[in-house]
Amino acid sequence: MRLRPEIVALPAYKQGRQADATAFKLSSNENPFPVHPAILAAIADATPNRYPDATALAVRERLAERHGVSPDEVIVGAGSVSILLQLIQAACGPGDEAIYAWRSFEAYPLLTTIAGATAVPVPLTDDFRHDLAAMAAAITERTRILLVCSPNNPTGTVVTADEFAAFMRIVPPTLLVVLDEAYAEFVRDPAAVNGDELIGRYPNLVILRTFSKAYGLAGLRAGYAVGDRAVIDAARSTQIPLSVTEVAQRAVLAALDHEAELLTQLDELVTRRDRVEQALREQGWTVPPSEGNFVWLPTGEKTAAVAERFERAGIIGRAFPGDGIRISVAEHESVPILLRVAGEVVRDL
Ligand code: PMP
Repeated sequence: MRLRPEIVALPAYKQGRQADATAFKLSSNENPFPVHPAILAAIADATPNRYPDATALAVRERLAERHGVSPDEVIVGAGSVSILLQLIQAACGPGDEAIYAWRSFEAYPLLTTIAGATAVPVPLTDDFRHDLAAMAAAITERTRILLVCSPNNPTGTVVTADEFAAFMRIVPPTLLVVLDEAYAEFVRDPAAVNGDELIGRYPNLVILRTFSKAYGLAGLRAGYAVGDRAVIDAARSTQIPLSVTEVAQRAVLAALDHEAELLTQLDELVTRRDRVEQALREQGWTVPPSEGNFVWLPTGEKTAAVAERFERAGIIGRAFPGDGIRISVAEHESVPILLRVAGEVVRDL
């Protein structure tokens, strides 16, 4: 059978091991809070024998109102990862290049390859941040899209508003820029870039958000993007029809109805994150400042062994061999275990 060789060679998207009753699954940056009763009620009212609204109009209207744009400038996808693929496919084909920071979200190289395009990873700085100057310098006549992740998965670092503005001044307006803000709601650094403030300012900028993290709907698959109508139309053209279910649309509307409550409870996670980070530093870890719901342990060549130590103690993190381990900040009960193991292994690094 003739399959595309670059697809055959792709490693499968790796998910963290599922937790059993004795372990905390801290490998996917999920939301640990119980699902809001209003969301459960909205889901229960769905009609699974009917197709969903293919355009998710009710959701787009709500989001458009929030961002002060028209519903035509909003697209809803089956997770923001789906919209990311739609955008990459809309902008890139074989021979075209996609630039992104590395290490960053592991879907970036995967989706670029699926689109048949060439991945151009640009190393993070020594302090685990986007090197936007180097990303801009990597632009060639083949470049079609640039992906910026803030806070960056897995290092948690943010791009500042000033850095991003300078970047947008250099990037030619013919190139699409995606600002992936999957963890926007966890950001407390006032200097960090905030997509909300950039909407409408750059026709080549798309802001990408998700309901998977702060809103706790990871399992239902819903994300959205806001951008210029021409770009959003192109992303719509590459969408798999009807992929956003009615259950997801209903859940998002219910989550938006209770948004203040859902976002307020994140303060607890942010406080926990800052406390964990501080404790890790006191143990001797070099931990980049995280504005997401996770922390990054740069464990280098010891990554596999350290990840195993964590797993044996009941902490399932996301290990990137040779590089580091990303651990979600979630259940309060996981923190003492995390810190105990971290304190033990830091001496062996
Ligand atoms: N962007 C980043 C940076 C992420 O970390 C994730 C989830 N791991 C996503 C996008 C995709 O999230 P979803 O498809 O669930 O919206």
